[in-house]
Amino acid sequence: MSDLIIRDCSPRDGLQPLAPLKPSQRAALVRRLESAGLRRIEIASFVSPSAVPAMAEAGAVLAELGASDAYWVLVPNRRGAQMALEAGASQLTVTVSASEGYSEKNTKRSIAASLEAFGEIRATAPDAVLDVVISCCFGSPFEPIRPGDVASLVHQLEALGADLCTLADTTGTATPSRLADVLDLTGTQHGLHLHDSRGTALVNAFAGYEAGVRRFDTSLGGLGGSPFAPGAGGNLATEDLVLLMEDLGIDTGIDLDLLLEGGRWLSRELSMNLPSRVSAAGPLEERAR
Ligand code: ZN
Repeated sequence: MSDLIIRDCSPRDGLQPLAPLKPSQRAALVRRLESAGLRRIEIASFVSPSAVPAMAEAGAVLAELGASDAYWVLVPNRRGAQMALEAGASQLTVTVSASEGYSEKNTKRSIAASLEAFGEIRATAPDAVLDVVISCCFGSPFEPIRPGDVASLVHQLEALGADLCTLADTTGTATPSRLADVLDLTGTQHGLHLHDSRGTALVNAFAGYEAGVRRFDTSLGGLGGSPFAPGAGGNLATEDLVLLMEDLGIDTGIDLDLLLEGGRWLSRELSMNLPSRVSAAGPLEERAR
């Protein structure tokens, strides 16, 4: 097994902008991802169901699945963290934005207030693993984002007790060149959460991997995108990254055929085609030597 870590966020980030699926359907999606070999999955979000209806009944999803080190859940604040812990979660993702404008729009609070909220979550969940997903690290529709500001945000979050940080390209504005500008200052020990709004998610993943990044967030079928960011575009598709990495000889531990079967199932549940290129075109033929 290689040191590559793929976290599929489709049950959370993927489904969040769509018409709600039942908790049993969301749990079934998680089980399909696990049986395809995914060892990290973001399964739910303890946000307000009135803000994000598709994420209602997060507790029911956890109850159906039981506790597992594979599972991550998103929490917006101390109350969400309490609910997640009560539901048995031990690994939490927390969103902080590098963009003041996006922060106001998405969470109705400033970056400074979201750092304070993170501190409260840390205090509420001292034993949980906290991964801070920093949105708009590579650009924002609201204002320019300086790489130095992203690096200093990472340092502040680490000082506040973040176990992990994940740099997110929420609106798909990263390119390999812009990615390099940020990674030069942050280092490559962080995760990357890429969106494909401009068709650059996979090339950014490749550039990130070449630079030394080993953690990637993806979404089955390329579903997802923030309902609060104009033109957010879908996430990097899990199957597209798996195909690329396996073809490079990098073992993902993920069975592409089972993953694609999961994608077909999800497409039927949602009554929509998935944006992933590989789900449309299928796996590669055997390579001639
Ligand atoms: Zn995303």
